[in-house]
Amino acid sequence: MATTASEKKLLIGGDWIETGDWLEVRSPYSGDVVGRVAKAGTAEARRAVDAAEAAMQEPLPAHKRAEILVRVAGALGRRHEDAAQTISAEAGKPLKAARVEASRAMSTFTFAAVEARTLAGEMVPMDASQAGAGKLAFTLRRPIGIVGAISPFNFPLNLVAHKIAPALAAGCAVVLKPASQTPFSALLLAELMTEAGLPPGWLNVLVGPASEIGDVLVEDERVRAITFTGSGDVGWKLAERAPRKRVKLELGNATPVIVEPDAALEDVATRLAANAFSFAGQSCISVQRIYVHRDAYDDLLGRFVPKVQALVVGDPADETTDVGPLIDGDARDRVLAWIGEARAAGADILTGGDLDGELLRPTVIANAAPDLKVSCEEVFGPVCTLTRYETLDEAIELANGTRYGLQAGIFTRDLKTALAAAQRLDFGGVTVNEAPTFRADQMPYGGVKDSGNTREGPAYAVRELTEEHLVVIEL
Ligand code: NAP
Repeated sequence: MATTASEKKLLIGGDWIETGDWLEVRSPYSGDVVGRVAKAGTAEARRAVDAAEAAMQEPLPAHKRAEILVRVAGALGRRHEDAAQTISAEAGKPLKAARVEASRAMSTFTFAAVEARTLAGEMVPMDASQAGAGKLAFTLRRPIGIVGAISPFNFPLNLVAHKIAPALAAGCAVVLKPASQTPFSALLLAELMTEAGLPPGWLNVLVGPASEIGDVLVEDERVRAITFTGSGDVGWKLAERAPRKRVKLELGNATPVIVEPDAALEDVATRLAANAFSFAGQSCISVQRIYVHRDAYDDLLGRFVPKVQALVVGDPADETTDVGPLIDGDARDRVLAWIGEARAAGADILTGGDLDGELLRPTVIANAAPDLKVSCEEVFGPVCTLTRYETLDEAIELANGTRYGLQAGIFTRDLKTALAAAQRLDFGGVTVNEAPTFRADQMPYGGVKDSGNTREGPAYAVRELTEEHLVVIEL
């Protein structure tokens, strides 16, 4: 297995520092050491906030911010394979998927550069009221201040890009805490940003105990916003603990998709097989719950299950692998327990449900009751359910029957059905004739209900990280 065994320091105030303490990162596939990284704690977190504060004393003009972002996008293009190998080694993500992620990170930086150049306030129509007549008013968009960014393991490059690129576009300095299991992709981005000319302190990267670093980000009043992607348990607690900060949350989902009888079933089966199991289901919008109209159920099942069985399970460094490992043994044991719960409750395991060596095989479950964990909680593993429905109303009710609301999908050729479902599905986004796993990086992406409280995508994130500042002029 190819790895990028390496030793990395932390970036604080433009310096690459050691702390005397190291955190070892192991491959989720082989258990081999991928590398080690200097471990930060409370003291380094405070230093990082000091450095960010000092950086923001000298604002970077928009054109400079845009130039840096464009240069990073270019560098990501040149280092594309390196970035993909790093993602694959530390996250256990199959290379095919890691390459897609590396390309998407270029796109994220490119869109953020556009935002840096175009971010502007707006004119206020003052003569629309008697009180305003004779005055001119407009708003400026000012950076909110220091941004604390916390990112998860599953997209260790592109989700870090979605934190740091819009923040820089907005004119904010960042203190970033990537997931401890996958720090190398974030540190690679930090290297590229430094090489692109980012002055000291604008990006600081801390790897280490989440609670220590998180506490500093929550408690230090100079950190004005926290942008968090990860699990709901952690995210909502951060929001509760920091009521005076802007805490922006991108959380989980239990992604549903509805298949109407008029859908192109061969195409549906192909898309769903790929999108329920890519990165072993460890995407926040991995297809999890498939609701199929009774008239299409047997046909879809006959097409879908063989495609799932044909997925190649194995070493993420192998070019042909579709499904690799879960991030660690605890995650694998949890998913196996949830499959066991479904089996014990009388659900049918149509394929998978067991291990291939150390890896969990792609698993399709039929007749799972709605209150089982696989039906209403986020599995975050290579598991999906197939459920038969009678009417569209019933399908929408089942799809909405979760505390989550990130993305959902429907397959149908009928425009009226598609639009009705798009309006009634209680999710931040709805895809039609595409798997709900789809995301392009300029989209306003984010959830309702327990799935979060924000929209990411550079154009939207930049607005979250700036404040409107009003200027009124007497004419
Ligand atoms: P996680 O356990 O919540 O970790 C996410 C980040 O939070 C990591 O950097 C983690 O650090 C940090 N963290 C943990 N406890 C903390 C605390 N007390 N204070 C501050 N930071 C803390 O989530 P994960 O397992 O990495 O990611 C999976 C979850 O992310 C899933 O629920 C998935 O759906 C969600 N997700 C959502 C989106 C979206 O855009 N909506 C995208 C991807 C993933 P350590 O690594 O050091 O523990």
